[in-house]
Amino acid sequence: IPVAPFDLVIFGGTGDLARRKILPGLFRRFCAGQIPPESRIIGAARSELDDAGFRESIREALHEFAASKAGDPDAVQDFLDHLYYVAVDATGSNGWTQLKELMRDDDEGYVRAFYFSVGPSLFGPLAEGLRNHGLAHRETRIVVEKPFGHDLETARALNEELAQHFHEDQIYRIDHYLGKETVQNLMAVRFGNMLFEPLWNAQYVDHIQITVAETVGVGGRGSYYDNSGAMRDMVQNHLMQLLCLIAMEPPAKFDADAVRDEKLKVIRALDPVDPDQIVRGQYTSDGKMSSYREDAENPVSKTESYIALKSYISNWRWANTPFYLRTGKRLNARASEIAVVFKETPHSIFGIDSGRHRNVLSIRLQPDEGMTLGVTIKEPGPGGMRLLDVPLDMSFADALGPEAEEVTDAYERLIMDVIRGNQTLFMRGDEVEAAWAWTDPLIEGWERRGDSPKPYDAGSVGPDDAAFLINRDGRRWRVLK
Ligand code: NAD
Repeated sequence: IPVAPFDLVIFGGTGDLARRKILPGLFRRFCAGQIPPESRIIGAARSELDDAGFRESIREALHEFAASKAGDPDAVQDFLDHLYYVAVDATGSNGWTQLKELMRDDDEGYVRAFYFSVGPSLFGPLAEGLRNHGLAHRETRIVVEKPFGHDLETARALNEELAQHFHEDQIYRIDHYLGKETVQNLMAVRFGNMLFEPLWNAQYVDHIQITVAETVGVGGRGSYYDNSGAMRDMVQNHLMQLLCLIAMEPPAKFDADAVRDEKLKVIRALDPVDPDQIVRGQYTSDGKMSSYREDAENPVSKTESYIALKSYISNWRWANTPFYLRTGKRLNARASEIAVVFKETPHSIFGIDSGRHRNVLSIRLQPDEGMTLGVTIKEPGPGGMRLLDVPLDMSFADALGPEAEEVTDAYERLIMDVIRGNQTLFMRGDEVEAAWAWTDPLIEGWERRGDSPKPYDAGSVGPDDAAFLINRDGRRWRVLK
């Protein structure tokens, strides 16, 4: 279904994120017929480029990052004809007048949105620049990238800064994990079926694991990362958002504030985590790959490239149910998964040999998005009543067959939601602050104690202590593939 025609300005339109995700995503939506022909996409950045130069550079980006669609030269050219470029200095006065002249008025019926794909220090100046130069109207939307603050204080200051120029219903804080197909499918599975919700609580769920494992190191962004670490870079935003969607109460309806109110309640019910329930790690060289400290160019760094922790949500639904979270870089696999591990059956009627089995609902975010439900069945054949766990595959692509649309990338879905004015999959200011209010004391704790992260080999499963964290509870991390 096509969205309304729009003018979308991408501040940082020449940057890495714009080239790799935002413009290729818009191109795919264009090929799918979702972008009305009157729409325009305006790159705005520091480089002195003209429209033709910008279009050429994006042509290359499409060939690199949207290869499956970029084989059609007519489609590429048609899309590029919708692109414009203005050199604007976010902190100075250059370019703003030209940008204003290029924009069409709101009353002409175009949605107007500004995507802040620039470093976080420019979020405030851009919001102010838009207001001062008369570019922001009541209906104008702004899209803000991560990181949203470095701690509660800076996040609060940023919220206040944006609030001076925009209302909350105009601010779209991106967490691209929320745009993933499977994450939305998770909500459909939870709230569109009778089967799961009655079991979705402490009585039937043994524990939940949320894993975001990466094989890449901190590479080119080492100095930024060294000032941040896995807790700030991944847990405070992405893992917390996933935890909220898994743990929240059913919202009364699928609308932005109803969903975000429920997510906020989860964050507020999260217990503080004891220091002995947190394991921080830092990768060392395995002889082939460089170490974290080399990548970060900081030989004494105490920043964690890995974190595992156990937390509880103090409410009726989840009392005493552990939530195990882990994320890290330079691990043995690139895999993101939420696993809902149900309790064992209370009694086995098949005898001791068959063991006791448990169901696991696995929600995979990458590499292949999809869901499986582990169910126990009889092993086929004449060998007696031997039980076997097999995955019931709920991947929608298989179910829908070859007609299934290619899985839509998170960014393209979220950008279309901005144009539609749907904030459900964007973080509200109070959610972000509540998440920092939970993480800040944990970070302050290890900084105060001067804790060093545990070393782990690049390419391994992470530090040994992370295994102990869960094994001592009689549980195991899911094996990453
Ligand atoms: P980048 O350094 O590649 O690009 C930055 C862009 O900002 C460039 O287009 C540059 O011209 C522009 N810019 C810098 N100073 C400016 C100024 N004063 N006025 C106008 N434009 C200016 O950065 P990136 O990797 O594209 O990241 C952009 C934002 O997205 C950051 O907030 C980053 O944290 C976030 N982000 C990036 C990724 C990623 O994969 N690259 C992922 C998640 C979030």
